[in-house]
Amino acid sequence: MVFTVELCIIIGVDTVKLKRNAAFALQGLNQLLWPAVCVNCKQSICETDNALCKNCWDELLFCTAGDYCRRCGRDASRYALVDGACPDCQGKQIHFDQITRSGVYGDALQELILAFKKGRTELDLVLGFLASSALQGSGFVNGIEFFVPVPLHWTRRLSRGYNQALVLAKKLKHPTAKINTDLVRIRYTKSQVGMPTPAARAKNVAGAFAVRQGHKFKGTNICLVDDIKTTGATLNECAKTLKEAGTSKVYALVLAVAGQNV
Ligand SMILES: [Zn+2]
Ligand SMILES: [Zn+2]
Repeated sequence: MVFTVELCIIIGVDTVKLKRNAAFALQGLNQLLWPAVCVNCKQSICETDNALCKNCWDELLFCTAGDYCRRCGRDASRYALVDGACPDCQGKQIHFDQITRSGVYGDALQELILAFKKGRTELDLVLGFLASSALQGSGFVNGIEFFVPVPLHWTRRLSRGYNQALVLAKKLKHPTAKINTDLVRIRYTKSQVGMPTPAARAKNVAGAFAVRQGHKFKGTNICLVDDIKTTGATLNECAKTLKEAGTSKVYALVLAVAGQNV
C-alpha cells in the first residue's frame, strides 16, 4: 500500500512521525551496511570521529608537528637558519619563494598519501584538512591568486585516473584563490623515485613543463600544490617555468617532505 499524504490524513497517520521513523530505519541500515571505520586502519569509529580513529589522529599529529625551514621545507629549528636558509639548503638555487608543508613523510601521513595515490580519493577530506591547516600557518595565504597543481603527464593521469595534486587543491580552503591548470607537463619523465642523486632528479625534469597559451600568470602570486617533496626538483622546475612566464611570486604547498628521519 502506498501512503499518500491524503490517505494518511484520512486514516489518521502522523506523516511527520512516519517520515522520521523511515529516516531512522534508513540510518540504521546504512550503519549496518557501511559501519563507520577509520579511513587509515579500518578500526570502528563513531560517526563523530572525523574519518580517523584516535590512534591515527595522534600518529598523524605527531608527523605534522615540528618546525621546518620555510625555504626548503626540511626539518629545522629556527635557530639553525642563516639568512632564512637551513644548513641543508644553504647556497642551493631554489626558484619558489617559500614553502609550507603539512608534515614529514612517514608513519600515518605516508600511509595516507600512498593510499590516496592508489585510488582512495575519499582521503581528500583528511588530507585536504591537513593541507589547509598548513596553508593557514604559512604566512603567504593572503597573497595567493591561483592554486596550481603540479601536473602529471597525460599518460600517467590516464593510468591513475586522476591527478592527486588537483584532487588535493580542490579541497583547499581559501576565500578568493582559484585553481589554475595552465601549467602542463609536456614531456614524459621517469619516476623520480628511481633517480639516484638530486642532480639526476633535476636533469630528469628539466624542460618538462610549459604554460598554456593565453595563461593568466603574468604578475600574479601563485601557490603550487603537490603531495610529496623529496629533493624539490619537480617543484623547482615548475616554479622556474612559472617565473619565466611572468609570475611574480611562486609559493609551494605539499603534504609531506620526504628524506628525513621521522
Ligand atoms: Zn585508525
Ligand atoms: Zn632549508
